[in-house]
Amino acid sequence: MKYTRDDIIQMVEEEDVEFIRLQFTDLFGTIKNVAITASQLEKALDNKCKFDVSSIEGFVKIEGGDMYLHPQLDTFTIFPWRPQQGKVARLICDIYNADGTPFEGSSRYILEKAVKKAADMGYTLEAGPECEFFLFNTDDEGNPTTSSPERAGYFDVGPVDLGENARRDMVLCLEDMGFEIESSHHEVSPAQHEIDFKSDEAMKTADNIVTFKFAVKSIAKRHGLHASFMPKPKMGVDGSGMHLNMILKKDGKDVFADENDKYGLSKLGYNFIAGLLSHIKAISAISNPLVNSYKRLIPGYEAPIILGWTTENKSPIIRVVSGRDEDLAIELRNPDPAANPYLLLATCLYAGLEGIEKDLMPTDPILESVSEYSVVEAEKLGFDHLPTNLMHAIKELKQDELMKEVLGEHIYKNYIRAKEEEWRQFSAVVTNWEIEHYLYKI
Ligand code: GLU
Ligand code: MG
Ligand code: MG
Repeated sequence: MKYTRDDIIQMVEEEDVEFIRLQFTDLFGTIKNVAITASQLEKALDNKCKFDVSSIEGFVKIEGGDMYLHPQLDTFTIFPWRPQQGKVARLICDIYNADGTPFEGSSRYILEKAVKKAADMGYTLEAGPECEFFLFNTDDEGNPTTSSPERAGYFDVGPVDLGENARRDMVLCLEDMGFEIESSHHEVSPAQHEIDFKSDEAMKTADNIVTFKFAVKSIAKRHGLHASFMPKPKMGVDGSGMHLNMILKKDGKDVFADENDKYGLSKLGYNFIAGLLSHIKAISAISNPLVNSYKRLIPGYEAPIILGWTTENKSPIIRVVSGRDEDLAIELRNPDPAANPYLLLATCLYAGLEGIEKDLMPTDPILESVSEYSVVEAEKLGFDHLPTNLMHAIKELKQDELMKEVLGEHIYKNYIRAKEEEWRQFSAVVTNWEIEHYLYKI
């Protein structure tokens, strides 16, 4: 543990913190919070703060009523972009029912269960995301647009532009908040960026992803820009992914690595990959959670479609990559930044662990480039592929017993219900594409 209860009280006093945001996320990974003043801090730290959270998406319980927020001490951090007198700090909270049991609708609780299962087997999952996003202009009224005058591409350097300055501020601000930023760069599409922070244990990484998105959006706003983590905001250019690099450790050692293996991969590494592949279609409802997510997963934009693994190139959904310190990581490339990181990490961890438990082995690696294949071509060549839209992904999720177990009855049911509704609404829209293609000739 990094902080004690007394440390928090002392920091709040010494740093002149006036407000503390008690934070948690809804079913979709969206940050929610309620602010308390410093005078209520001790009550909050005693887990006595209760709130009516029944209006939060996916939280609705038949019995309704208040829930208790239990602040997690190690998540204390001060928001550098808020006033420096009368500062604002936050604590991420677990959510408990009035009877003292953990609330099953809390996605943090779902990841906690998955982490515990891994710990019971002797393992710790470390994960590092590669989070991509766009920085767009806002219009005269401050509404986000999808335009930017910026024309830079992969790894480009300035002319000094707002994107570059904003990214610099983001990195400094995240470092202030305790992130270890490994690198940041301009991505392939104009106005697209990526900032990578250090891998950490699964729960810390999930908390970090949520904080990262919040901080990036807040800093962008100060630069008059809108940061969007939408997977495919613009047709015809690369979308934004959130590759997930995973390492499983036992007694502090990476268990995926075996230098005697042809591909540097241990038996447990093969097992983990096979487990992931056997559930990835259902997981895609979590890792690629929006109607829009599937507009990214098309050929030609470095976003994967084909199920399989590789060491060589970037084509199928899994790549085995050597990390720093000779560690070997399994990189899952289909997730996008719209995913709820708690549920994403929980589902991937369970799938990988099942691969270990059942001693599953994947088929041979795909060593040719398959990144340009459409779904039709992939099928012709005998490759399996990701679901092609949200409804297909939800269907897969509905058939996956392991995912039902991971997510628990409450989240499983509410998530599926919400996503089916999202699909229903989208399906009812008559799009410009249809008007363009049908109105004239039909
Ligand atoms: N933007 C690409 C995607 O949608 C990833 C590019 C990269 O390899 O960093 O997944
Ligand atoms: Mg990238
Ligand atoms: Mg990557």
